Amino acid sequence: MRPYNFSAGPAAMPEDVLKEAAAEMLNWHGSGMGVMEMSHRGKEFGQIYAEAEADLRELLAVPSHFKLLFMQGGGLAENAIVPLNLSRGETADFVVTGSWSQKSAQEAARYCTTHEAANTKAGGFTTLVAPSNWQLSAKPAYVHICSNETINGVEFHELPDLKALGCDAPLVIDFSSHVASRPVDWTRVGLAFGGAQKNLGPAGLTLVAVREDLLDRALPICPSAFTYKTVADNQSMFNTPPTYSIYIAGLVFKWLKRQGGIAAMEARNLAKASLLYEAIDNSSLYVNRVDKSCRSRMNVPFYLRDERLNEDFLTGARSRNLLQLKGHKSVGGMRASIYNAIPIEGVQALVDYLRDFEQTRA
Ligand SMILES: *Cc1c(COP(=O)(O)O)cnc(C)c1O
Repeated sequence: MRPYNFSAGPAAMPEDVLKEAAAEMLNWHGSGMGVMEMSHRGKEFGQIYAEAEADLRELLAVPSHFKLLFMQGGGLAENAIVPLNLSRGETADFVVTGSWSQKSAQEAARYCTTHEAANTKAGGFTTLVAPSNWQLSAKPAYVHICSNETINGVEFHELPDLKALGCDAPLVIDFSSHVASRPVDWTRVGLAFGGAQKNLGPAGLTLVAVREDLLDRALPICPSAFTYKTVADNQSMFNTPPTYSIYIAGLVFKWLKRQGGIAAMEARNLAKASLLYEAIDNSSLYVNRVDKSCRSRMNVPFYLRDERLNEDFLTGARSRNLLQLKGHKSVGGMRASIYNAIPIEGVQALVDYLRDFEQTRA
């Protein structure tokens, strides 16, 4: 059996997908070519792309007035690409709830005026501010949130309804680390983006879902390959897309459909997260500091109350085939990322280890 891998990203893949990709590595469906070797303009890759797009649209119930773009550059590049496309050089609002939204605001400030509608740094990024208490600017070009803060372990369990706040600006969500873990309420979203390497597939692919009316407002300095309208008009093939990453993501989409789709994944993810948080909350060795109302179901940071035990904890975990539990360097401690590809058995194995380790150190 392969170890359970709790990496925050690039992260564990469904084993079935890795096996399928291995079996097709040299010869995809009798074409005599591996997917890496195919022209992106050929009929074989055309089929791979069309199926991936259709499967993703079905899984996430993406409405027809949204374009799905398969881009490159990852989440950090989108921090620049979004303001280049949406800000018109005016003011964009940011709700800063952790490391990733903070980075987004900093990068956007190179292209437009930025305004912080809320910032939870003073509380150590462990809470969310209710949208009714956000200080939105008069007429933001868009409002950005990171709907799941991968490092701080903070998640919006519900997306904010800007219209209900009297704001008609589009909501931009960075959903890199919880895309496909739960349904998306598209009525509240103008644009969603995410790097693939957390929950969708290999690094190198960035998914963008953008409402059609937002396609055509890019600044003239926006690079052509990053102009949403250009990418959309060319079915993501203005330049060579990350073909192999798209192929693997397509296998993940088919795997997700076999699992019962996104609602089934959400139910499993809820069960996995409660199992782990309960174990942490009921122990006297481990602690998670995030407010219960906004704890991430994907990324669970926790600390050992006696930090001198950290190295022992990680060594013991590796010997039990539990990998990559070390926390992000900026916050320390531990982090278990329990994306779609981690089954409940993996979380149970971690919970068993947490208990055993605590008992031996008591
Ligand atoms: C991982 C991550 C990113 C950064 O992705 P890169 O591909 O490294 O640019 C951005 N936002 C969130 C929420 C992430 O989890």
